Amino acid sequence: MNKHTAINVLFAVSLVCLFFLHLSHPVAWYWYALLVLLYMSISAAGSYFIGLNYFLHSYNKGSNKKPQIAITFDDGPNEYTPAILDILQKEKATATFFCIGQNIAGRENILTRANMEGHLIGNHSFNHLHSFPIQMPNAIASEIGQCNEQISHAIGKTPRLFRPPFGVTDPMVARGLYMTGMYSIGWSLRSYDTVVKDPQKLLAKVSRVSAGDIVLFHEAGLHTPAILSQFIQNARAKGLEIVPLDRLLDIDAYEK
Ligand SMILES: [Zn+2]
Repeated sequence: MNKHTAINVLFAVSLVCLFFLHLSHPVAWYWYALLVLLYMSISAAGSYFIGLNYFLHSYNKGSNKKPQIAITFDDGPNEYTPAILDILQKEKATATFFCIGQNIAGRENILTRANMEGHLIGNHSFNHLHSFPIQMPNAIASEIGQCNEQISHAIGKTPRLFRPPFGVTDPMVARGLYMTGMYSIGWSLRSYDTVVKDPQKLLAKVSRVSAGDIVLFHEAGLHTPAILSQFIQNARAKGLEIVPLDRLLDIDAYEK
């Protein structure tokens, strides 16, 4: 039973208990309202925080017993991806790129290069719309499939790693993803590199990295290219090895 199902059962039982209690001792309406509000708050938090594993299981972190971390980049490929690849090449570090399907046409060479240089390519939906999680499960599955087709066309491999857009999950995403057989990938260290305006603050934030962390960056992050080398060096100075996600999590990145 996942956490969402358990909360549903608990909510239903609480409602029934309140109702029976009401038969002997009148229960004020606001107790019902409070219960509904609590249920909605838990669901909203479960939807927003992928790390809670509320609606489905996501891989949010590797084992903290091995001194390894993985770096991930979301929302490419775009005009910033080649510069990120240059830095990774210079630092001899590998990463995972969660790509938006509609960004790929015309930029297949970027994916080919990333693949050749040992990076992994994951799926980040085709359109990356805010409405992604409120579609029907078969529409979600088909959007994931469309993105996989673009990736497979570019690198000849079909990804099994999927990161939900905005990290938002719900019962529809859970069912859609189940239909595709892909793994849901979250993160344990979010850089907020699209909003943090001070490069030193960004570097300090991500340099708190520890064993098992999955770090979330964006190629289009405001200062990501400026701090990436130093971040990698800081992580290595802590004795952490930077590995691709499939090694960190011991799962297959692509269909066999
Ligand atoms: Zn995204």
